[in-house]
Amino acid sequence: MCRHLGYLGPERSLAELLLEPAHSLLEQSWDPHDMRGGGTVNADGFGAGWFGDDGRAVAYRAAVPMWTDVSFPQVATQIRAPTVVAAVRSATVGMPVAAEACAPLSDGRWLFSHNGKVGGWPDSLAKLAGRLEITDMLTAAPTDSAVLWALLRQRLDAGEPPDRAVRELVREVLAVAPDSRLNLLLCDGHRLIATTWTHSLRVRRSTGTVTVASEPSGPPQRWAEVPDRCLLIADTEHVEVTSLEEDS
Ligand code: GLN
Repeated sequence: MCRHLGYLGPERSLAELLLEPAHSLLEQSWDPHDMRGGGTVNADGFGAGWFGDDGRAVAYRAAVPMWTDVSFPQVATQIRAPTVVAAVRSATVGMPVAAEACAPLSDGRWLFSHNGKVGGWPDSLAKLAGRLEITDMLTAAPTDSAVLWALLRQRLDAGEPPDRAVRELVREVLAVAPDSRLNLLLCDGHRLIATTWTHSLRVRRSTGTVTVASEPSGPPQRWAEVPDRCLLIADTEHVEVTSLEEDS
């Protein structure tokens, strides 16, 4: 299953965050340590997103293993940001290998990643996707993650608070596809909202900095495991973890 990472804190280069640490996201693309539910490498593409000076979300995504992209290391050295969401992908069987399918997905305001799969795809999600606009469906890559993103965006566009939108999305997907794995990660530039539903997630805090990641990277100290079936809300000052169970 894919690996993802979200960072809020002092400005860092993408290289410092994603390429240079011990057991970096780059290393997790070929040697992940905690894959649950299948997959041995994350070689079906990758992406890194940040927010530009105008506040718009930008994402560099490619349908190749992170370690084969000759341009990314140069870009990663030059791009510095206080907010980053990145992922390496192991495509779920039957889903296309394409840049559009790589996280982070974005509409320019949010960065979104999904680590997992929706059970019974595509029939299960079709029950929920019926309420999507046709344009949403056409612009989305034909993956479970893209439909999850379209469904979440609908809630966000309607003004639902992001933590509630994520919680409600998990609840409604589990209602039609209870065997799903739903580690979601959403960022508006200031907050990270993440879920654990049968995949690994760790969080590390230090003064003015928070990182959430499927697997720890960098110094091993201070990483805490986020329990399964939880919602995490984090900014640079606070981390709050609550159970998703009572709403499922
Ligand atoms: N199901 C999603 C995809 O295929 C996520 C895959 C994963 O977490 N391995 O893109």
